[in-house]
Amino acid sequence: MSKTKSSESVKVVVRCRPLNRKEESNGPAGGIVQMDLRLGQVILRNPRASASEPQKTFTFDAVYDANSKQRDLYDESVRPLIDSVLAGFNGTIFAYGQTGTGKTYTMQGAWLDPEKRGVIPNAFDHIFTHISRSQSDKQYLVRASYLEIYLEEVRDLLDPNHGNARALELRENPESGVYVRDLTSCVCKSIKEIEEVMNVGNQARAVGATDMNEHSSRSHALFLITVECSQPGPDGRKHIRVGRLNLVDLAGSERQAKTGVQGERLKEAAKINLSLSALGNVISALADGRSSHTVMVATLGPAPQHYDETLTTLRYANRAKNIQNQPRVNEDPKDALLREFQLEIARLRAQLNHRKWRSKQKKEQVDGEGWEGDGDEETEGEEEVEKEAEEYVKLQEQRLEREKQDIREDQFMLAEEKQRLLGEKERMMGDLRKEQEATEQLTAKYKAMESKLLVGGKNIIDHTNEQQKMLEMKRHEIAEQTRREREIQQQMLVQDDETVELKETFTSLQQEVEAKTKKLKKLYAKLQCIKAEIQDVNDEHVRSRQELEQTQNELTRELKFKYLIIENFIPPEEKNKIMNRLTFDPEEDQWKFQPLVPAESKSSQMKKRPSSAVGYKRPISQYARVAIAMGAHSRYRAENIMFLELDMTPPNTATLDP
Ligand code: ADP
Ligand code: MG
Repeated sequence: MSKTKSSESVKVVVRCRPLNRKEESNGPAGGIVQMDLRLGQVILRNPRASASEPQKTFTFDAVYDANSKQRDLYDESVRPLIDSVLAGFNGTIFAYGQTGTGKTYTMQGAWLDPEKRGVIPNAFDHIFTHISRSQSDKQYLVRASYLEIYLEEVRDLLDPNHGNARALELRENPESGVYVRDLTSCVCKSIKEIEEVMNVGNQARAVGATDMNEHSSRSHALFLITVECSQPGPDGRKHIRVGRLNLVDLAGSERQAKTGVQGERLKEAAKINLSLSALGNVISALADGRSSHTVMVATLGPAPQHYDETLTTLRYANRAKNIQNQPRVNEDPKDALLREFQLEIARLRAQLNHRKWRSKQKKEQVDGEGWEGDGDEETEGEEEVEKEAEEYVKLQEQRLEREKQDIREDQFMLAEEKQRLLGEKERMMGDLRKEQEATEQLTAKYKAMESKLLVGGKNIIDHTNEQQKMLEMKRHEIAEQTRREREIQQQMLVQDDETVELKETFTSLQQEVEAKTKKLKKLYAKLQCIKAEIQDVNDEHVRSRQELEQTQNELTRELKFKYLIIENFIPPEEKNKIMNRLTFDPEEDQWKFQPLVPAESKSSQMKKRPSSAVGYKRPISQYARVAIAMGAHSRYRAENIMFLELDMTPPNTATLDP
């Protein structure tokens, strides 16, 4: 079942990092990015333009300047999204921007400094704190996965031998949208455990890369968290909601330089650029078929030399505002793992109870009390049953030991008889121990299974006191307030522009002329801005078109080269054979060879030699057949034509006369 909500657009926020030391030493020019935090505007200055040229202004849901705190960004722009994930929606946050502008800083930050922890560790805190504070009738299951997309290949970072493992496949299913087949997912019971998962993945990521900086600028990293929550509904049944959170650190958005690269590198650059220009598709794929709340954090650097990239990032972010999503709650999906866990736990518990109850029953028979039926059973707690069962085992052992002792001391019994009875008692004791071991194993399995589920308000010790909770709440309120204020400011700005002519009444013709001239000027300036924008966009298109053409030329050249080789060095019949075996695999977007031997006859790859009609290896005349049967001359034989018997003639040792 899914509840639909009206569509909403991708929330786009922009963050600018401070100038770094190298950039500061480059000159006094300072940054080219200015921000109006109150209005959520970014003003970009073109360092190469004349002062008269108007600056470019972009408006976003929120903007964060060089002084912004990690915490502010989280509280204002991320917290509501995580809250919605905890309520069973899908949520996606991704960082987009040029390499070195703070994507990883925003998503991960510096782990050890609480002030500098990024979105991901803050989300861990948020999720587990929420669970610890929720009501105790809720059960949670939290899972994490970590993967990387490099050259359009998906790699599992939690798979211990991911280095040589095959790339994973992306699949789509109508129930849960796009997913990665066979992706490792780890059940996490605490903040510490999920941090461990993240660390393991980060290390795996660094291991495969020769140059981490270069690698991270070319690959996307996705950390996925699934939160399943089961809660009794009004109908008395347990309902499960599944929230999926995608935390994405995208590859650097800069175009890969293609000048001077060839072969594999050229193809790689072309592929990366292609996958970046298809980012719209990436977003919708990440956002699970657009059913997810989505936040995009576009990161900028303030340095003048990156003006072009910064402008491209801002334009991109501006366009992303228009992407519409339809978030809905995932309620009782078929693939909820929590449901499976609950069923398994219930099954184990039933088994265990049955065992314990049996032991207890036996004990009561031993005690000579008889047993008092089911009513008694139900009133007793689990602990009590367990204790009684243990007691029973102990008593049984003691009794067997006593009986053994008695047998040994019995003077009237034959030695053989004694031996037999003692053996029997031994066996009984062995059975008892085996039984006990099995119970213990079952108990351990049950406890391990149960401990994976987090129960609201229980599993995590919450150290925060009431005051701190109040403080947190106030902080959220303030964040909410700021957000709303900004929205209102933005709305006012838009309305101002629209209603300016309605408010004005003119007392004289002169005044009217003046006012209209002013307005004309304003509109003219706006027109110039838009014209410049159009020109810019055109230029950009021309540039990217030129680049694509260049790539195309280079690829064509390579293709021609390959054709040349084929035509001159490969015999036409060989070429045809190869061509006939080629098929295009649309899933992997690649040409592939069909296997040489059809799949079904794999077991008998060596075909049997056809035999003649009467069963001989080759056609044979009647005469030869008779001759073979007679064992005559070897020329009539179909096989074993040579006789390899030892040559018994004595060696010739006569010396030759010269
Ligand atoms: P990216 O992942 O986009 O390539 P990084 O996150 O690695 O960029 O950031 C590059 C450098 O800039 C790092 O040294 C990081 O610490 C620093 N940095 C980025 N954003 C900020 C910020 N908002 N405040 C302070 N330092 C930042
Ligand atoms: Mg990075």
